[in-house]
Formats: sequence, structure tokens, C-alpha cells
Amino acid sequence: VEADLVELVEHAADAFRASRPDHRLTVAPGPGALRLRLDPQRIRQVLDNLLTNAAVHTPAGTEVTVSVLVEPGRALVRVADAGPGIPPADRERVFDRFYRVDKARSRDRGGSGLGLAVACSLVRAHGGTVELSSVPGATVFTLVLPLGAASLTKP
Ligand code: ATP
Ligand code: MG
Repeated sequence: VEADLVELVEHAADAFRASRPDHRLTVAPGPGALRLRLDPQRIRQVLDNLLTNAAVHTPAGTEVTVSVLVEPGRALVRVADAGPGIPPADRERVFDRFYRVDKARSRDRGGSGLGLAVACSLVRAHGGTVELSSVPGATVFTLVLPLGAASLTKP
């Protein structure tokens, strides 16, 4: 199936704003549209998990930023938050099933620890990857999708 990645991101952002009024969400300026071969429901599920994670691990009132970027051969969606970050030792393991960094605290937040594992397999099924970079105050999850024969519209 083909779908517009930019529109998907905007819909996920709207849903986030409606359900999490305690956070501010900014969609950075990017391409006006980007049609890709992807499964919109699955990619939406990945975006929702990344956005929920960002909200759950940051104080109320902080900003979450989403951006769509195009690089040679690939499209990127970045979800950045200003939370405490993920320590280096946990950075690979957060993609494991049921893994949560702070078990006691995460339990209050109700997560099962499956979101990123599911996100990874859904993105891999699209030929893409999920990457993570994190320092205290700046955590960025990047969804990388192959561009294939995408059609791009400038803003
Ligand atoms: P689920 O998504 O299944 O409801 P979850 O959010 O706990 O539960 P994952 O989405 O797989 O599970 O995330 C795994 C763990 O990675 C989280 O419990 C948390 O410890 C850590 N994590 C994920 N995103 C962030 C983030 N943006 N900032 C800090 N820690 C994070
Ligand atoms: Mg999650």
C-alpha cells in the first residue's frame, strides 16, 4: 500500500495533542507530502508508541518534537523529547520484549515493555530500522524507512 508519511505524522500528532494536553507537540517544517510504500496502520502504531513513550518519560509541559526528513534513499521520522534519557547500558535492551529501564517506576505508568519491540519488527517488515540516540535532556528515536520509488512534494 502507498500512503503519505507526512499526513500520517500529522494525524498522529493531532491524536497526541487531543489525548495529552499536558504536553506540547511540535511538528517541525519538512516536506509537504511524502508518498511511500507502507502500511499506514502499522506505521501509525509505531508513531503512537514513540509519542506515548516521549510523553510518559517527560514532565508535564515539556515539548515533544517530531520531524520528517528525506535523505538519499531513505525517509526519517524523528521523535525527540527533553526527558532524562536512556542510559547507555539500556539503549539496546529497550528494544527487547518486556524490557523497561526502571521497572518500579514503569509499572506505575502501566507499560508492558512491548511497544519498542513491536515497533522494531513492524519497521523491519517495511525494510527499515528504528534508531536511538539519547543524552540527558535529549532523547531521539528515529524511524528509518527506505524511500523506494517515493514521490515527494516540497512544502
Ligand atoms: P508499552 O509500549 O508496551 O506500553 P513501554 O512503553 O514500557 O510499554 P517500550 O515502548 O518498549 O515499552 O519502551 C521500553 C522502555 O524504554 C520503557 O519502559 C522505558 O524504560 C524506556 N523508554 C522508551 N522510550 C523512552 C523515552 N523517550 N525516554 C526515556 N525512556 C524511554
Ligand atoms: Mg511504549
